[in-house]
Amino acid sequence: MQCRFCAILEAPAGRILREGKYVFAILSDPRLMKGHVLVIPKRHTEKLSELSAEERGELMDEVISIEEKLLTKASGVDLVQNYRPFILENDLKVDHLHMHLRPRELNDAIYEKVQIYERGIFTPLIEAEIQEYRSLLAD
Ligand SMILES: [Zn+2]
Repeated sequence: MQCRFCAILEAPAGRILREGKYVFAILSDPRLMKGHVLVIPKRHTEKLSELSAEERGELMDEVISIEEKLLTKASGVDLVQNYRPFILENDLKVDHLHMHLRPRELNDAIYEKVQIYERGIFTPLIEAEIQEYRSLLAD
């Protein structure tokens, strides 16, 4: 089965909002809210580390540009990129790298239905974890 994002890029249709040399942007379908944008590398990859320096540069430039435009209509924007190879592709998961830009408002539907419950998940940071991740992230 063909990748849904590669199919969008190959179709002559009007789904693409913006297109650069290495990336394109569409509205998410399904979406979490109005203006939920996906910025997608044209080349099919699954991980950020698979992108070339040029692709990474254009991806971030597009994310920043689109975020600024969304902020003219929204109070905030969430930027999300998921890498979850442990979940099989389904109607909400595509194995083609993409970044979500989600326009946000105070106490919007995501906050009221999801994030309000995250408060109970947060736990205090401990020194051993700082040491563990300092070692992991060291070059
Ligand atoms: Zn693809």
